[in-house]
Amino acid sequence: MQALTQLAAALADWRAALGAEHVRDDAATLAAYQNNVGGLQRHIPAVLRPASTAEVQTVVHLANRHRVPLYPISRGRNWGLGSRLPGRDGVVVVDLARLNRIREVNVAGQYAVVEPGVTQGQLFDHLEQQQLPLLLNVTGASRDTSLLGNALERGIGYFSTRAHSLSGLEIVLGSGELLRTGFSHIAHVKTAHGYRHGIGPELDGLFAQSNYGIVTSAGFELMPKPEAAMAVIAKIKDAAQLAAFVEALADLRRRDVVRSVWHIGNRERTQIALGPLVFGQLRQREPDATFVALRAKAEALIAAAGFGPWSAVCGILGSAGELKLARRAIRSALHGLAQVMFITDGLLRAADTLSRPFDFVPWVRDQRIMLHSVRPLADLARGIPTDGPMQSVWWPLGELPEKPSDDPDQSHCGMLFCVPFLPPDGRCAREAMDLTYQVYAKHGFTPFVTLNLVDSRSLECVINNAFDRRQPERVAAAHACNDELTTEFIRRGYPPYRVGPQDTRLIVDEHDLFWRTVRDLKHVFDPNGIIAPGRYNLV
Ligand code: ADP
Repeated sequence: MQALTQLAAALADWRAALGAEHVRDDAATLAAYQNNVGGLQRHIPAVLRPASTAEVQTVVHLANRHRVPLYPISRGRNWGLGSRLPGRDGVVVVDLARLNRIREVNVAGQYAVVEPGVTQGQLFDHLEQQQLPLLLNVTGASRDTSLLGNALERGIGYFSTRAHSLSGLEIVLGSGELLRTGFSHIAHVKTAHGYRHGIGPELDGLFAQSNYGIVTSAGFELMPKPEAAMAVIAKIKDAAQLAAFVEALADLRRRDVVRSVWHIGNRERTQIALGPLVFGQLRQREPDATFVALRAKAEALIAAAGFGPWSAVCGILGSAGELKLARRAIRSALHGLAQVMFITDGLLRAADTLSRPFDFVPWVRDQRIMLHSVRPLADLARGIPTDGPMQSVWWPLGELPEKPSDDPDQSHCGMLFCVPFLPPDGRCAREAMDLTYQVYAKHGFTPFVTLNLVDSRSLECVINNAFDRRQPERVAAAHACNDELTTEFIRRGYPPYRVGPQDTRLIVDEHDLFWRTVRDLKHVFDPNGIIAPGRYNLV
């Protein structure tokens, strides 16, 4: 009862400060934030939409006054890992979408200073419009995902992890004070985003995967735009070759032939990533064919194109000469093991023009369809964000979204992620996959897997299921499956690098000094426990 009066008083004060239209507690708004692809139930009492750092400070000050907890989201696209949901019921969501300014782009320094609402699509479009020679470390998720929220969750980009990509953070602490990290707290500083460590203890890391404050801006690292780019696709025919495949790809990474992430997908993952794209191409040619017929055709085309048990893709950036050398080294390293294909601008142009007159030859037509379909993947390899692969969330249910940019949280599709890190070791990858298939079979699910060789030291597993949220027993089974797999990976020494709020209990531990220290720090930054209670913390 007391909590309700506190909330009512806080809502009145927030309305006065932000304007009533930016403080929402109507049923439709709350439903849109509570709907989530993970099929979790959570009560969100209200949503606040501040538009500036000053407004975020006011929101936090008022939350402290009335003792009402807050949960910040940048764009809230944390699909399969909690979407927009706080860790507990009764926590007010602070949606930072209106803080969407690109404050600065520094070409020589290779960074942009962005606010949390800036999406990867927005920054990409800005760089293109301004014709700036900079490239974005994109993720395979939609154009609408944030840069800051994703980096704060230590998301993995197409080229490298985003964990180290932030600098000079501006943070509204749980206490309401404004903290600036690195050099950025020093008056008139000109190097806040160049040398990110600043002087003295480095605090930046404390604000990733934590609940101490709300980040309202940060420098985001960019890459120089290369002279040339190509995507490499490598496919093996026999599942028993997985260990050797991982070893060979890791070795190319260690030798610096490949400097970006190898994304190695299982057959099921490749089918759902490419299926909707091939389907789209086929539908243009045969608009009257049924969905089922086109879907079967798409799947057959993908198999015929040699996408077997495991296929890998990566981007190579550099000069024309460097690309040529990389091609030779990759061919020789994978000779006899995998079929390799290089997707260059030249090849894509040829697919558009040269082969068109021969479209009546089925083989040529199928090749063209496949090339057009892999284009979004090739685009990612050159830093172009795309919504295309998101359709894979609908595909296992035998459906497609109305638009590729549709938000799966607002659909009936279900999906949960389990993301343990492994060493870049073939045998270990094989054993992890044996475990995955075994646990998934027990619960009656198909595992969609990508093994990301993030660098020469680590292999990220991204394992997801697919289910229909309209069937409660399948939702329960999907959670049991995901929890059992996560728990078993932890037992074997391979904890996940990220969890949804429902799974924090699997990783935080009162008996571990690490988590007790994390709790103690909470009292320093957020004495009243306002920000994201329970998120990556005991409190
Ligand atoms: P995206 O839309 O890019 O997927 P989200 O907005 O869903 O990112 O955020 C992912 C996670 O990061 C959530 O747990 C969220 O609480 C946290 N987070 C997002 N933005 C901020 C922020 N500005 N400050 C602190 N934590 C944040």
